[in-house]
Amino acid sequence: TPQALTNLNALVEEYFRLAYQGLRAKDPTFHALRTARLAPELGLVPAVAPELGRVLLNLFTNAFYAVQQRAKTDAAGYRPEVRASTQRLTANSVEIKIYDNGTGVPESVRQDIFKPFFTTKPTTEGTGLGLSLSYDIVTQCHHGTLTVDSQEGVFTEFTICLPG
Ligand code: ADP
Ligand code: MG
Repeated sequence: TPQALTNLNALVEEYFRLAYQGLRAKDPTFHALRTARLAPELGLVPAVAPELGRVLLNLFTNAFYAVQQRAKTDAAGYRPEVRASTQRLTANSVEIKIYDNGTGVPESVRQDIFKPFFTTKPTTEGTGLGLSLSYDIVTQCHHGTLTVDSQEGVFTEFTICLPG
């Protein structure tokens, strides 16, 4: 567990905003509903901000990409949405959830998405390193867990659990 302490809520808000700006820079007409439910009493947790920031940026960027993709193919009436939440689970663990109602992760690739260079995106859009790097940062550097829950065509939710 890192010695450094990080304001998790501030970090989540920062990268939520940054990822949305990144998408809007390329696609200014795209809008997604963004909601953050951040635990007010969370305080500082043991985490290396720049590293965990990279994880959050990747997860949020993936989430916005997924809703953008679904918006291209889905019927009118689809409302792209990305949600972030933080929560204290126990006296020494906190949880971050990033949810999107985008394309979802097909069951057939669920086991592959954390592998280096696995991507379903065109080479200009992704390297396939984001999730494998994120997994290493969360598990090896922070002794936490990174898991995914998804239903194809419905939603994807990544959960980071950190000691702290
Ligand atoms: P990249 O974003 O460069 O493709 P990642 O390691 O970040 O690489 O993600 C690997 C793959 O996991 C993606 O190409 C995509 O197929 C899948 N994936 C990740 N996040 C999501 C998501 N929120 N919704 C749907 N698929 C996702
Ligand atoms: Mg990515």
